[in-house]
Amino acid sequence: MTSAPEPLGLSGQPAQPDRVIADLRELAALTGGPEGARRVCWTPEWVAARDWLRGKLAQVYSSDGAPAQVEVDPAGNLWATLRGRSADAVVVGSHIDSVPNGGWLDGALGITGALEVLRQYSGVDLPVTLRLVDWADEEGARFGRSLFGSSAAAGTLDPDALRALRDRDGLLLPDVLAEHGVRIDRARDAGSQLARVAAYLELHIEQGPVLEEQGLAIGPVLGTFGVERHAIRFSGRTSHAGSAPRRLSVRRSAGSGGARERPPPRWRGHHGLLHD
Ligand SMILES: [Zn+2]
Repeated sequence: MTSAPEPLGLSGQPAQPDRVIADLRELAALTGGPEGARRVCWTPEWVAARDWLRGKLAQVYSSDGAPAQVEVDPAGNLWATLRGRSADAVVVGSHIDSVPNGGWLDGALGITGALEVLRQYSGVDLPVTLRLVDWADEEGARFGRSLFGSSAAAGTLDPDALRALRDRDGLLLPDVLAEHGVRIDRARDAGSQLARVAAYLELHIEQGPVLEEQGLAIGPVLGTFGVERHAIRFSGRTSHAGSAPRRLSVRRSAGSGGARERPPPRWRGHHGLLHD
């Protein structure tokens, strides 16, 4: 593996890809198991992953010798800042949370890669500010709502649409957020973090087979897909079979109604039908 050339005009260290791989293995050993990563957001293993990241960031310094300034915004996103001569910021980052049994690189590659960028410029007099961001609950694995922290920062999060979400144990999202210092009604205040962002770069593992098939190491993202989730409820009316003949139309089977209502083809990837 070759090291990146030293950037023009800055006296930063060359990036050390081997150190990124070592970090990824350390994180996987700390918060993963035989089935993969277990850093579901708002859980103790996610907190452990963040503590690990904070420990790494404590070894990165601004040019004045102060450690990187680390803060958590009102949506739970973690930011680390190396102040430069301008407050305009280049932001690098991704998400340290995972789905249950997640891949060891998904999100974590972007975080450890960003950490390496900060190490590269640790102690360097930077023309612009350099920031790392770890978006909170990008995967949405626990409450079924992805992009929590990033949508809050972008201003597209609607607290009223999330207030009633529960996890598998019946715990409410706002209660769980509160345990982590996040108030759902204040989450969009995270938008102030974007005020001086001049550029955002995220390194992410490819989520398809194209680069591998073409033998390419890296490629830019040219577009993306939106995700919609629909819960469709079919209601019926029960009545005794036999004594309530179909011709009187008092029996309405939710199951057969649902079976007749086939989802449109483009929905068929992931659909769940509820009936009662
Ligand atoms: Zn990801």
